Amino acid sequence: MSEKKVKKVKKSRYSFSLKDLIRFYTRFSIPWWMYVISLVLGLVYSELLIRQAEFTIAFNKGELFNSTIINFALLYIASSIVAALENFFSGIASLKVTLRARKTVWNKILHLPMEEVDRRQPSALISGITSDVGQASTLLTMIFLVVSSIYSLARAIIEVIKQNYTMSVILVVIIPLGILVFTFVGRVEHEVYKRNVTSFRTMTEYFSEHVTAAKNVKTRAMEDQEEEAGLKAIDAKFKADLYSAIMGQIQVACFSLYNRIGTVFTAIAGSSMIRAGKMESTGITDFDTYLNRVYQYTSEILTQYQSLRATQGALQYVGDMLEGPQEELDKGESAPEKVGDLTLEHVTFGYDQAHPVLNDLSVTIPAGKITALIGSNGSGKSTLLKLLQGVYKPDSGVIRMGGNDVAAMAPHALRKEFGYILQNNPLFSGTVRGNIMYGAPKATDEQITVAAKMADADGFIQELADGYDTDIGEGGKNLSGGQRQRVAIARTLLTEPTYLLMDEAGASLDHKSDTTIFRSVRENLKGHTIVVVAHDMRSVVEADHIIVLDHGTLEVQGSPDELLKTSPTYRSYLEKQGYALAGEGAAR
Ligand code: ADP
Repeated sequence: MSEKKVKKVKKSRYSFSLKDLIRFYTRFSIPWWMYVISLVLGLVYSELLIRQAEFTIAFNKGELFNSTIINFALLYIASSIVAALENFFSGIASLKVTLRARKTVWNKILHLPMEEVDRRQPSALISGITSDVGQASTLLTMIFLVVSSIYSLARAIIEVIKQNYTMSVILVVIIPLGILVFTFVGRVEHEVYKRNVTSFRTMTEYFSEHVTAAKNVKTRAMEDQEEEAGLKAIDAKFKADLYSAIMGQIQVACFSLYNRIGTVFTAIAGSSMIRAGKMESTGITDFDTYLNRVYQYTSEILTQYQSLRATQGALQYVGDMLEGPQEELDKGESAPEKVGDLTLEHVTFGYDQAHPVLNDLSVTIPAGKITALIGSNGSGKSTLLKLLQGVYKPDSGVIRMGGNDVAAMAPHALRKEFGYILQNNPLFSGTVRGNIMYGAPKATDEQITVAAKMADADGFIQELADGYDTDIGEGGKNLSGGQRQRVAIARTLLTEPTYLLMDEAGASLDHKSDTTIFRSVRENLKGHTIVVVAHDMRSVVEADHIIVLDHGTLEVQGSPDELLKTSPTYRSYLEKQGYALAGEGAAR
């Protein structure tokens, strides 16, 4: 198996280091200045809070002077303005980070090699760009908040020591205990996150696949079985949520216990000091005012730390994807000037290492001719068409266009040479016109109508409520299957591709439409190279060249007349579809 494949598997690691995380944030610009302003405001805010504590203590002592009250009121108002500004800057910075991270991820998804898209599953990529990426800003905000909270904590600790040196010995117990609580919470949080994500992905994947297939569920009367399978996915999510809730409560309990230890100590130590006359009677409350600040900031840091651990996990998927391989769509040679044959030379390819789908295959698709590709299901016909367009790369062997190795060509340049019509082609929400123009944004109305006529679509489009401007709904759901197919064919024909690949393109059409389209394509694209994969032998017998595949290897290739003599497979296909194989030709 090729080296490339081995590398591909090695690449699929899921350990996301700090280095990866830093690299993630270098992929787009970050509004640092906003974060810095918000950090500075955060520090100012914590200073103002300390001042507030001083006022509280003064009030406790009965110092109710007008100037003290006015200063306190001003401080109070100032601190709320500072807090609002801090939130404003960090909020806007967060929105910008999310926007930029999302754009980066979308760009990457568009450039993923097809193997990566297959490996990662569309639904996981969707949740990567819709939800996971939102964590990029949370993580940054948290980092800045942690810095600000650590500063505030340090300030609070200093104030505690200043307030009562003897009683501040409690910090010797509180701080290491706090570190222990943090370590525990960090571990738990990581596990909670892993379980949450896995169950959420499984549930989303299940529902996105099965809700989309609602029509099939109904027509196959599968509601009962679906309910059961859906319940399993729901149940798995519930178990993960339950685990998360229990762990959350344990974390809260640990923290609260940790909190109480200090309070109990203050009460015992404080009261004995007051009794011994070593402290004034308001000493406990004063000390508590500062100690509470210590708890407040420890609690803030703990929440931020939990959030950091969880978001780091969420970014793991996105970060890993961004680190992974990508296609350089415009890097490479341009397409050959002169139209030439498409050739495969000893091509071997498999979607996974163990099962090659094409095996040492050498075939020629002659330029300017119609070539039919036949073979049983799974023999590799569609795979061959995808390899021609560079959607997948061969594990070994060479594919040439007019003698040039396609591996050296820029993927965009290569793919623009092709038109590719499948049995079912995705359409997008929007108008008929918009869908036909997808891939040819500068097309004129006249060109669009010509392409639609070629695809036997103009007639039905004219009859739609708004003609070419009719909204076809999500995925083209307002059209029939055959109408959708004809719009998709028009879309491809509009680009007048040098090489037109039709993979069971007529399978969802009635025979009349199928034949009309095939004949019209043949006439209008005379001189273009056309490859047809079809089970209906009517298109096959009209081809100039036929390639018969058998389990990814070449059984035979040649003209219809040659194959009639040499290929039992070709003959049996014809016979099965009612052709009489008399004399030199096939007739029905
Ligand atoms: P054909 O067009 O001749 O029916 P295909 O080229 O579609 O055959 O498929 C050839 C083989 O490759 C089949 O065994 C199929 O299961 C497998 N295959 C096709 N597409 C994929 C894919 N994306 N991932 C894994 N296996 C695939």
